[in-house]
Amino acid sequence: MCGIVGYVGNGETDAIDVLLNGLSSLEYRGYDSTGVAVANGALRVHKREGEFSALESTLPTESLRGDSIGIGHTRWSTHGPPSDANAHPHTDSENRVAVVHNGIVENYQALRDELTAEGVDFESETDTEVIPHLIGQALSAGAAPETAFRRAIDRLEGSYAVAAVFASSDEIYAARQESPLVLGIGDDGYYLASDAPAFIDYTDRVVYLEDGQFARLSPGEFVVTDANGTVVDTTVETLEWDAEDAGKSGYDHYMLKEINEQPTALRQCLRGRVDGLSSTVELAELADLEPSWPVQFVACGTSYHAAMFGAELLRERGVPAQTFLASEYDADRVLVGESTLVVGVTQSGETADTMRALREANRAGARTVAVTNTVGSSAARECDHALYIRAGPEICVAATKTFASQQVALTLLACRLSDASTHDVVQALRDVPDQVQHVLDTSRASEIAAEYVDSDAFFFIGRGHQYPVALEGALKMKEITYRHAEGFAAGELKHGPMALVSEETPVFAVVIGDGERAHKTVSNVKEVEARDAPVVAVTDGQTDVERYADRVLKVPASNDVAGAITANVQLQLVSYWVANELGRSIDKPRHLAKSVTVE
Ligand code: GLU
Repeated sequence: MCGIVGYVGNGETDAIDVLLNGLSSLEYRGYDSTGVAVANGALRVHKREGEFSALESTLPTESLRGDSIGIGHTRWSTHGPPSDANAHPHTDSENRVAVVHNGIVENYQALRDELTAEGVDFESETDTEVIPHLIGQALSAGAAPETAFRRAIDRLEGSYAVAAVFASSDEIYAARQESPLVLGIGDDGYYLASDAPAFIDYTDRVVYLEDGQFARLSPGEFVVTDANGTVVDTTVETLEWDAEDAGKSGYDHYMLKEINEQPTALRQCLRGRVDGLSSTVELAELADLEPSWPVQFVACGTSYHAAMFGAELLRERGVPAQTFLASEYDADRVLVGESTLVVGVTQSGETADTMRALREANRAGARTVAVTNTVGSSAARECDHALYIRAGPEICVAATKTFASQQVALTLLACRLSDASTHDVVQALRDVPDQVQHVLDTSRASEIAAEYVDSDAFFFIGRGHQYPVALEGALKMKEITYRHAEGFAAGELKHGPMALVSEETPVFAVVIGDGERAHKTVSNVKEVEARDAPVVAVTDGQTDVERYADRVLKVPASNDVAGAITANVQLQLVSYWVANELGRSIDKPRHLAKSVTVE
């Protein structure tokens, strides 16, 4: 978790401007505290508990101008609570080096004990602080900054993206192991960040560091080396994202902006991948993927709900498929063999639980596919194949457009992995972006939110393809409103949860199509109605569910696949407007962060 930013310039640009700009765009990665260090013969470190604005409002920005080397950090704590002392950067006892770190140093206690025995005083409770002290030890022993940095990194176990600046050097040193780090190649210097939007205002040319690699950035050059110090060739890629993509574009919240971006995101996801005339699916990235089964999905949170949707589609198409919560996946206990295809669904491509599951699957000999939004992410690089969902940057912690894009990408994957006819699915997918636009233009979710905002709890029910939509609807409601919400398979309500249903608990029922499952869900709606709970039907109107509902959120008539996407958009909007009524911190809900890179 957390965001790192760094800059080494040729003097044209003040480092502090790059750092503040980068930190403000990285806040979605962590916001327990923020800090910067700028270097110019001496190190000047400023850090503060709280959001970026807490640092910005107290920073002596003008006095930091003129320096063109610096690093910054937004923290999501793993070791030690949010505080000024625990904020990064951390320094050695003589203020010779400042370090920012993303991840967890697993052997930090042993290193801390060792350093303490040698007389080092620690100022924080973090695992990170061992790094500057290890570097400081090496400096005291006469090592040059780069050697001291490498020696310290060699002692670390765990996951890290680390960047360091020295009082005695005009370079930044960085290393990565299982935490993202990307270099930006600008005309006025070199940039470094956990995620490219941090420097996209300055450059769109990037180099992704690999696990085990080191980087040295100086005003005139950047050098990437492997663990042995051997220089490695790098590929400079040009990003398609621009600064505009990373701004709020006039919406009150990133979440609402991202909900409204879904038609575009879905078109991007479909572009060049479906042929409407022949009703076929063509995924260039998966050209050499041999379909095999069983298919096992591993994912967490919202991505897990998308994975459930994908697995249901595969089963419907005759392919055995199961879904696992990544944190519960154990390749020794589930049957994984060479014919098993393990699909990791992770929007960031860095989710630690999912990465661990994928690595286990790789070790067990399975073939692996990453379904991710992040080109060059760990998941994309470590899996045998990567399918990009192409949703563009998502800043709001609560996932919206990435879920819809995952639904579409997984539908395409299901077509690719099965022999069943793709005709109906392709025709439905082609219409989905316009249907989502129609929902956005006509939704009455804000009225329903205003009506039910004070309810005791919110329940969501759905069957088959709509079951994951019910779960996702409830998760979104929990994440951004902090209200009690639960999603259930519609048939399960009567087996227990019905005891919770009352006049004060609206039940959102997702009913799509007029198949047997839809009609069964209508029966469940009648049971709920008989117990006086308000019912909100989210429906395409192919059944008579509206007769039993107090309110209706309408989606265009289609099939189960398209309906699951459009119905979810209605539920996203309900959660958004309830959270808005309650004045919640919608883009940055309490206790949550965007990309969860710890297990
Ligand atoms: N483990 C470090 C800490 O707790 C870094 C956490 C982060 O990635 O922000 O300070």
